[in-house]
Amino acid sequence: MYETDYEHPLTLAEAVQALKRTGGRPLAGGQTLVAAMKTRLSQPGTLVDIAGVPGLRGVRITGTSILIGAMTRHVDVASSPEVMRAIPALAHLAGGIGDRQVRNMGTVGGSVANNDPAACYPAAVLALGAIIHTSERAIPAEKFFVSMYETSLNEDELITEVEFPIPRRAGYVKFEQQASRFALVGVFVADTGTGVRVAVTGAASVVFRVAEIERSLTTAFTPESAKSATVSSKDLSSDIHATSEYRAHLIAVIAAQAVSQALAG
Ligand SMILES: Cc1cc2nc3c(=O)[nH]c(=O)nc-3n(C[C@H](O)[C@H](O)[C@H](O)COP(=O)(O)OP(=O)(O)OC[C@H]3O[C@@H](n4cnc5c(N)ncnc54)[C@H](O)[C@@H]3O)c2cc1C
Repeated sequence: MYETDYEHPLTLAEAVQALKRTGGRPLAGGQTLVAAMKTRLSQPGTLVDIAGVPGLRGVRITGTSILIGAMTRHVDVASSPEVMRAIPALAHLAGGIGDRQVRNMGTVGGSVANNDPAACYPAAVLALGAIIHTSERAIPAEKFFVSMYETSLNEDELITEVEFPIPRRAGYVKFEQQASRFALVGVFVADTGTGVRVAVTGAASVVFRVAEIERSLTTAFTPESAKSATVSSKDLSSDIHATSEYRAHLIAVIAAQAVSQALAG
């Protein structure tokens, strides 16, 4: 590690001020940021620890949405009765993230802000058409994820809450990369009541929707229908873990499993 200043603001306004003044980085669960600092992939001069900012933790439910505070840990989403009741697929997703330490420390806001191309939350955010509430504005999912590790957040902007519209039914299945447990391919399928949305993580540089499977599932919301869609391997990632063709094949297979999960409720 190297020398880094540390700030511990006690209000949202103080946190934003600290980011503006220092040009530092917000620190949430530290599961990604601290590891990146150890390897010097990231070298912030100041860490602005947002653990002391009130109002950033917990789950709220309205008639049509579930709102999860940015500092809510994965373990708390996985075990939230409200999330389990309203969007069981989201609780299932959170319960399958990383290992016990990551789930006990990592947060929704940190995961969404980090926009790792193989992270699970971005698939849920995009498939459910979530809204990312920040210290400045509300950003729709479609406008949030820009490219690998890049979002539309400004440097001094903090995610405060993520609002997930409650779908009729949904499912999330990931094919794990065995060493890290990130998604080699993860597919979130949401039947929103006004249409079917399918978002994929792990298969390209940034989370994306799959029109072919969405069309198929709009005609018939069945596993066979998902599996019958032809997914192009063009623009998909190829690396030591899997070729783009293999990932394309996995997307349809896993989408079918996610539909089965959605149908099972
Ligand atoms: C071994 C391992 C396995 C993992 N497996 C998975 C997996 O299977 N699926 C998965 O989805 N993820 C996985 N993760 C990532 C995990 O979900 C992390 O917790 C998450 O990416 C970062 O969350 P954090 O709260 O620790 O954020 P931090 O590490 O503190 O921050 C991450 C980034 O987000 C920024 N940030 C944090 N909070 C905010 C905010 N409120 N507003 C704006 N910017 C903010 C930080 O400045 C930093 O750039 C894994 C991580 C590890 C180490």
